[in-house]
Amino acid sequence: DVVCRHSGDEFIVLLHDASQWDEVAATADRLLAAMEQPALVQGRELAVAASIGVALYPDDATDPDTLVRYADTAMYAAKNLGRARYSFFRAEFNSQLLATQQLEQELRQALLNDEFILHYQPQVDAGTGQLLGCEALIRWQHPQRGLVPPLQFITAAEECGLIGELGAWTIRTACAQMQSWKAQGLSFGSVAVNVSALEFRSHRLVEVITQAMGEFSIQPQELEIELTESVLMTDTDTTQRIVERLHGLGLPLAVDDFGTGYSSLSYLKRLRPSKIKIDRSFVRDLPGDDDDRVLVQAIVQLAKAMGIRVVAEGVETDAQRALLHNIGCDTLQGYLISRPQP
Ligand code: C2E
Ligand code: CA
Ligand code: CA
Repeated sequence: DVVCRHSGDEFIVLLHDASQWDEVAATADRLLAAMEQPALVQGRELAVAASIGVALYPDDATDPDTLVRYADTAMYAAKNLGRARYSFFRAEFNSQLLATQQLEQELRQALLNDEFILHYQPQVDAGTGQLLGCEALIRWQHPQRGLVPPLQFITAAEECGLIGELGAWTIRTACAQMQSWKAQGLSFGSVAVNVSALEFRSHRLVEVITQAMGEFSIQPQELEIELTESVLMTDTDTTQRIVERLHGLGLPLAVDDFGTGYSSLSYLKRLRPSKIKIDRSFVRDLPGDDDDRVLVQAIVQLAKAMGIRVVAEGVETDAQRALLHNIGCDTLQGYLISRPQP
């Protein structure tokens, strides 16, 4: 990228290959944060504020002069909004930005107000129907909008850095729930929690888990960590280290949405998950779809040969249940057995 002085106190930052407007927004955020740091000049702290205007090539204009002019217009719009802000030349980006910022603000408040809850969806033995465990799924009990599903806020929580806190809340709440079930003499097998990519690579994950397990007297086999293939595939050295620490604690790992991420299977060997969860998209069209049947069969055989348990997700019909059982899939999860329950 290029940073240069344009005139007076105006500077131009040229971002190459910024394909998404939100990528640019993230960079503008970083620039503003960097500008906020006071500069020490001859023993005095001086603070400088910046306003940023953004024009996008080729969406807004294709020639340099027009781009600079549009960025200038957007910069004045940013100044009008107040100090230390940025603004896009195109209004629709600004409204999307506002919506995102509002959601992030609301999420922060929701954590403070304790508006999140966990629902639990059972996993049962494919043959006997016996309860083997359940998966904890987060929901947001929004005061106006009602029960908000996770796909509407997890990404925003990741983008604004709240996912760590939200993840810690999930782990602690699941552990507290287990302790309470035990106190009532109920057996539940194990509880699986979903850990998202950013949360997984944060330094605090292992600490959060260890602390919650100690506080709520949770045995390692009772808490299962669900990770997606994309998490297990990227940044392999760090991933390997964290997985080893989780193994060290004795926690079972499950690979979520198996078959939808990457086709490389070498991570199965390196990371030794105890469970694979066959994604709902392979189960949906069973038993009719021959390709899906062959794929599911192959996944089950592969897993069995490696000593990994297999869970089928999204089981909705009795025909699916019967076929999966015949194929040799150990465990079932889906609306047929139960929807996630408070
Ligand atoms: P997932 O981990 O694949 O969770 C399974 C999703 O499938 C859940 O949606 C569940 O309600 C839904 N489901 C289960 N059985 C059936 C079925 O038979 N048919 C159909 N159509 N759907 C079924 P939900 O609760 O909306 O969660 C969506 C995703 O949000 C989850 O996908 C997971 O990736 C993420 N998520 C949920 N809770 C958490 C959390 O605490 N932390 C993180 N990082 N992600 C979470
Ligand atoms: Ca999951
Ligand atoms: Ca899944």
